[in-house]
Amino acid sequence: MNILYDYHLHSDFSGDCETPVELMAERAAALGLRGICFTEHLDLDAPVIENIDFTFDPGLYFRKMQNLKESFQGKLEIRVGAELGMQPHTLAAADEFAARWPFDFVIASQHYVNGQDPYYPSYFEGRDERRCYEEFFEVQYNLMRRLSRWNTLGHMDYIVRYGPAQNADYSFEAYADYIDPILRYLIESGKCLEVNTGGFKYGLGQPNPAADVLARYRELGGELITVGSDAHTPEYLAYDFDRAAALLAQLGFRYYAVFRDGTACMVPLEI
Ligand SMILES: [Zn+2]
Ligand SMILES: [Zn+2]
Repeated sequence: MNILYDYHLHSDFSGDCETPVELMAERAAALGLRGICFTEHLDLDAPVIENIDFTFDPGLYFRKMQNLKESFQGKLEIRVGAELGMQPHTLAAADEFAARWPFDFVIASQHYVNGQDPYYPSYFEGRDERRCYEEFFEVQYNLMRRLSRWNTLGHMDYIVRYGPAQNADYSFEAYADYIDPILRYLIESGKCLEVNTGGFKYGLGQPNPAADVLARYRELGGELITVGSDAHTPEYLAYDFDRAAALLAQLGFRYYAVFRDGTACMVPLEI
């Protein structure tokens, strides 16, 4: 194991996840991870498709996390985070939520585009895949600059998981005009770029974002990354972390960030 902290995972506090927090923590300890950060979904006013409520009760969440920390004291470092979904009309409320509660770590993620959900194939029906991807990046660039209380940009090219051809026609080069502003903004504002190994799980052969996007981030001077599996079940914790670590080392990354009380600590990639 080369990466010892998983900083993107869910439990049954997230609307699309059934796994109790204890099972996630037990699996993480069994894998030999040093720490995990729960990052539950807060997608306010999510488009109603399957009637999933992507919000959680923060008071209950922090109480549960306190108990869990006590149970795993000395065995596993447990941190408390959130994954804030970005939509234009919910940014202010999401920021207020993140400010009001003492999260260690906050991921900013775009799951929806103009009120629609690309997770479902119907999103792409009758539409040009390339234009859908461009639109996703345009909206992301617009929204991320209007949200304040976050530490890392989650699964930056998330939409390629779900397109009809997935990443067959996708590359940094092909979308450079859309991706460069996002990477430059992260660097200028001191935010991190997440390396989400869910892309391997989705059969992309790449994390999200893809290796050539990560290479471009390095080229522009980007150094700050966080790493997460986006696991919703215990078996996907730290998914393909060895593969991600090898890729990151090859691209010239030496450290990844973990967050405690909102402050970044750099951890070496142990190769
Ligand atoms: Zn997400
Ligand atoms: Zn997630």
